Amino acid sequence: MKNVIVTGGGSGIGRAICQRLAEDGNHVVILDLDESAGTETVGLIKEAGGSAECLACDVSSTESVQEVFAGILKIDALVNCAGIASIGKAADTTPEEMDRIYGVNVKGIYHCIHFAIPKMIQGGGGAIVNMASMAAKVGIQERFAYSMSKGAAVSMTLSVARDYLAEGIRANCICPARIHTPFVDGYLEKNYPEEERAGMFQKLSEYQPIGRMGKPSEVAELAAFLCSDKAAFITGSAYDIDGGATLLR
Ligand code: NAP
Repeated sequence: MKNVIVTGGGSGIGRAICQRLAEDGNHVVILDLDESAGTETVGLIKEAGGSAECLACDVSSTESVQEVFAGILKIDALVNCAGIASIGKAADTTPEEMDRIYGVNVKGIYHCIHFAIPKMIQGGGGAIVNMASMAAKVGIQERFAYSMSKGAAVSMTLSVARDYLAEGIRANCICPARIHTPFVDGYLEKNYPEEERAGMFQKLSEYQPIGRMGKPSEVAELAAFLCSDKAAFITGSAYDIDGGATLLR
C-alpha cells in the first residue's frame, strides 16, 4: 500500500483528492489546519472501506511541518492542496496580506516538498502534485497576491521536476479554473446579499466556456492519475482543468 500525503484534505478539492486516492488503495495521510474537518474526511474514507489518518498541521509553519513529517516514515506521493485566496489589485494589497498568502500558498508548498523529498529519495522515488491555478497563466482581475503565489507553485514544480529526475521523483502541477467548493459558497455568502447569489453563481459558471464550474471530483481524478504509476512518463507539466477557460476564452 502506498503512503500518500495530502495537505488541505479537510475540505473541497483536497477532500475529493483524499477520497479518490483512497479508492485507488493508497493509505492517505491528511494534513490540515482544521483537524476536525480532516478527521471528517478520514471518516468518509473509512466508511467507504479505505485507509486514512489525519494530522493537524499548519503548512505555513516550518516547525509544524517539520514535526509532522518527522513522524511519517514513508512517503510515496505528496499532494500540496492547502491554499487560501486573496482578492485585490497590487495597490490595495497590504504587505501583511502579501506575507499571509506567501506563507501558506508558497512557503507551505516549499515546507512540504523540503521535508518530503529526503524520504522519497530513501524510498526510491515518488510523485509530487502541486495545486496551482489558471491564475498562474492568465491575468485574472484583482488577484494580485493569489496569482503571485500560484505562479510560484508552477515554477517550484518545474524546479523540483528538473532537480530530482535522477532520484525518480516526478513533479507536476494542476491549474484549475473555478471549481465548486465551500470556498466559492463562502465567497458568495460573504460578498453578496442572498437575492443576488444565484445570479452571481451563474456568472461565475459562465466564465468557463463549457458553461459550469468544475467539480472537486474531476480535479481529484487528475491528481490521482498524476500520483499513480500510470503517469510514469509525466513530469514537469502544468495541467489545465478549466472547461476551456485558459485557451478558449
Ligand atoms: P478550501 O475548500 O478552502 O480547502 C482548503 C483547505 O486547506 C482547507 O481545509 C483549509 O483548512 C486548508 N488550509 C488552509 N490553510 C492551511 C494551512 N496553513 N495549513 C494547512 N491547511 C490549510 O479550498 P479549495 O477550493 O478546495 O482549494 C484547494 C486548492 O485549490 C487551493 O490551493 C486553491 O488555491 C486551489 N484552487 C481552487 C480553485 C477553486 O475554484 N476552488 C481554483 C483553482 C485553484 P481551513 O478550512 O481550516 O482553513
